[in-house]
Amino acid sequence: MTGSTPAPFTADDYRARMERAARSAADAGLAGLLVAPGPDLVWLTGYTPTAVTERLTVLVLAAGQDPVLVVPTLEAPDAETAVAAPVLTLRDWTDGTDPYAVTAALLAKDGRFGISDNAWAMHLLGFQRTLPDSSYTSLTDGLPMLRAVKDDAELELLAAAGAAADATFEEIRKLPFAGRRESDIGRDLADLLRRFGHSQVDFTIVGSGPNGANPHHEVGDRVIEHGDMVVLDFGGLRDGYGSDTTRTVHVGEPTEEERKVHDIVRAAQEAGFAAVRPGVACQEVDRAARTVIADAGYGEYFIHRTGHGIGVTTHEPPYMIEGEEQVLVPGMCFSVEPGIYLPGRFGVRIEDIVTVTGDGGRRLNNTTREMVIVD
Ligand code: ZN
Ligand code: ZN
Ligand code: ZN
Repeated sequence: MTGSTPAPFTADDYRARMERAARSAADAGLAGLLVAPGPDLVWLTGYTPTAVTERLTVLVLAAGQDPVLVVPTLEAPDAETAVAAPVLTLRDWTDGTDPYAVTAALLAKDGRFGISDNAWAMHLLGFQRTLPDSSYTSLTDGLPMLRAVKDDAELELLAAAGAAADATFEEIRKLPFAGRRESDIGRDLADLLRRFGHSQVDFTIVGSGPNGANPHHEVGDRVIEHGDMVVLDFGGLRDGYGSDTTRTVHVGEPTEEERKVHDIVRAAQEAGFAAVRPGVACQEVDRAARTVIADAGYGEYFIHRTGHGIGVTTHEPPYMIEGEEQVLVPGMCFSVEPGIYLPGRFGVRIEDIVTVTGDGGRRLNNTTREMVIVD
């Protein structure tokens, strides 16, 4: 996606986000934040440079200071079109000058700064060289919950992305599976996501038969056969916000064992969802889902965390994983996606995006979680 996020956010919304981020940084003991082009910059300003090059673009946020966007001179006209431009100070630098010196003039000489995870190493090295007494932490380590709590407008966009993913599933289940390649179904999923408004498709996992037992399998050339379980996990960005859902279908009538494994995963997904409410630690959602699978005797076959956050990206904090004691807050949005993977045989995963409400959780994916039989 290029250009400004087509989301319904105003310069005032972005100002509020930048102020909150600067305050949170100060509370976390940081002298400021250095935000590179990418999801953090989009969320804070709505700005995506037309082209991300080796030339330094960085947003500098610090409590009690106006936000400053440092940009290459040749990209200043582009930056001036950002929705947040009226509430930003633009500081441009021209080729032949030192962009790190320009930025360093805005920073405490011996400060500790949070820097975007995706900032280029050469830029971090430039800051370190220019301010030898400064130090840095990744933004995700320093402020993991920066983007985690969504406001009402964001929740609406996430719900719309979820509905588009659901519409995609309702269409794909009508198509023939047997005799077609995983890659054919993957292409259909991508086409459908776009048809239902996605501007970006991040993944289309089609794991048929034994391939379904590998959660990282994307699509391959395997021809889907009658009798296959097929894991379908797909998502991307629609109006700047993410979708991510999984359903596991079966080609023709399943065996008793396949049905049993699917039922266990469905019960685990239900238990994970039922655990969602304000004040509960993330790890409790993981435990609730995992307990169901372990009690059914399949604990060793559930080989990943139960969920991840979603927002302007399709994978971000908070993570539903043992050891994560962060408590759930209304407005957080994340996946609940337990699975069972039987090596060499088949896999089952069921995934919904869930948001935390005042007293529980609300699913943003609402297609059936019963096993769907396809042709
Ligand atoms: Zn089967
Ligand atoms: Zn997924
Ligand atoms: Zn997911």
